[in-house]
Amino acid sequence: MGALVDRLVCEHRLEAAELRSLLESSDQLTFNSIRQHAAEVAQRHFGRRVYIRGLIEVSNYCRNNCFYCGIRRDNRQVERYRLTDEQILSACSAGYQLGFRTFVMQGGEDGAFADNRLVPLINTIHTQYPDCAITLSLGERSAASYRALYEAGARRYLLRHETASPQLYARLHPADMSWQNRIECIETLKEIGYQTGMGMMIGAPGQTIEHLVQDLMLLQQIRPQMVGIGPFIPHSLTPLGDYPVGSVEMTLRLISIIRLLLPHALIPSTTALATLSPMAQIEGIAAGANVIMPNLSPADVRRNYEIYEGKAAFGTEAAEGLRQLAARLSTINYEISYDIGNYNEEVKI
Ligand code: SAM
Repeated sequence: MGALVDRLVCEHRLEAAELRSLLESSDQLTFNSIRQHAAEVAQRHFGRRVYIRGLIEVSNYCRNNCFYCGIRRDNRQVERYRLTDEQILSACSAGYQLGFRTFVMQGGEDGAFADNRLVPLINTIHTQYPDCAITLSLGERSAASYRALYEAGARRYLLRHETASPQLYARLHPADMSWQNRIECIETLKEIGYQTGMGMMIGAPGQTIEHLVQDLMLLQQIRPQMVGIGPFIPHSLTPLGDYPVGSVEMTLRLISIIRLLLPHALIPSTTALATLSPMAQIEGIAAGANVIMPNLSPADVRRNYEIYEGKAAFGTEAAEGLRQLAARLSTINYEISYDIGNYNEEVKI
């Protein structure tokens, strides 16, 4: 195993069979060593500093019916909301004052956020905050739409691929959703010039080690600038609500492996980790992640963006909780970075 770890550290690349044997291994020493190397690589590139991104959950209306997601179309028990432009701009203003230099607009696939509304909104944010990055996470759109939003000023886009396996994708989504289209969207985003984020849930129902190997191979192939992974957390009002929660341990292992495969990547330690255990998110940073995305949405709508049950949105998960987050990071000798935190391959690893 030592030789495999060395190759992963030096060459940033492994074959599928090698990744499989790493993931299947139960040797704690191997994983301690991978984690240590991943932390060293992250520290060499970013220092002991964690970028923060202000997450604005713009709408929980969604036309899609993903079997795992709490805001899926058929969940009639969610109280639906859609932020106004004024609410979004005032979230940006509050975030800017707190020190955020990236705003992430995330939401369900809501027809109300068509280009004729988003383009002027992004333009306004871009003009008012020229020193900030605008990230979007609004699902699958046409190439023309992605281009228009880029021209308006958006520069990053998060679109998890969810799984590299078309078969597993079909178990997690209804027939009207296409794996092929999702991957094409990711490729289009990258071609347009977005810093593009991919990712998957760890422990998604039906997921095996082989699927995770395929995910890592796809990440090596597409080489996205951002990779967001988090444990699957069931939501009782979804068709997959009875499946068990994904493993924090496996999520941390994968963060470390992804850091070594893609040394420059922006890797968030996600809210799903924070939801499962307050310290899991800090462990994510210690495992090689370098981004945290506190919630900047208006407090009264946060509980309605419940993609999984018990989703953390307050305390260190909230923009107002930055001091608490800083205190928690200081326990592992890390600090918050208020930089814009663009992807940068220039820095030598
Ligand atoms: N609609 C956009 C999209 O599809 O990319 C963005 C919002 S979507 C809710 C964001 C991510 O939440 C998904 O990519 C998925 O991986 C994650 N997610 C949804 N349900 C989840 C669950 N039950 N457990 C963990 N993560 C979940």
